[in-house]
Amino acid sequence: MAKPKVVEHFRDVQEELARSGAAIFRDKDAVESLILDDPYSIRYIHSYAEDSPFFLALAEKKILGSRCTNPKCRFVFATPRSHCMTCGGATQWLELPPRGRVHSWTTCHFGSEAFLKETPYNLAMVEFEGANSLLLTRLKDAVESDLYVGMPVEARFAETPRYRITDLWFVPART
Ligand SMILES: [Zn+2]
Repeated sequence: MAKPKVVEHFRDVQEELARSGAAIFRDKDAVESLILDDPYSIRYIHSYAEDSPFFLALAEKKILGSRCTNPKCRFVFATPRSHCMTCGGATQWLELPPRGRVHSWTTCHFGSEAFLKETPYNLAMVEFEGANSLLLTRLKDAVESDLYVGMPVEARFAETPRYRITDLWFVPART
């Protein structure tokens, strides 16, 4: 590789990296830093462990919550929980209704790479009949001005499951 080109504006670094794969950035104090374009990828093996039934159920268009088995507690989480956050008791799965209501929401005008194509997008905390906690989810097919606390919403599921939380989202209830 030829000696990298020296650039004095940081905005020129990207261009030089794209062209030759390396650049030397000389800052305002004349310090020179060698910068390389060094793409990498990793294979990430992730276990859902005791949360696995929740993600498998999404593929069957079901939302599972977790109910505390302690008869004095019986707290119902609208999320996978192997143990109760209130009393520490073991939980069992229960199916949540496919409809709920908006408890709160926010519209995101910046998102991570996975969501850039749908930005701006809505995130909502959804409450369910029979559950004591909330589920954080995306709320599609609605603009910010449509949204309100208590708005009825219903679940949608990916036709081709990828076993990720993005297999689930909500839309305004049709009826
Ligand atoms: Zn409990």
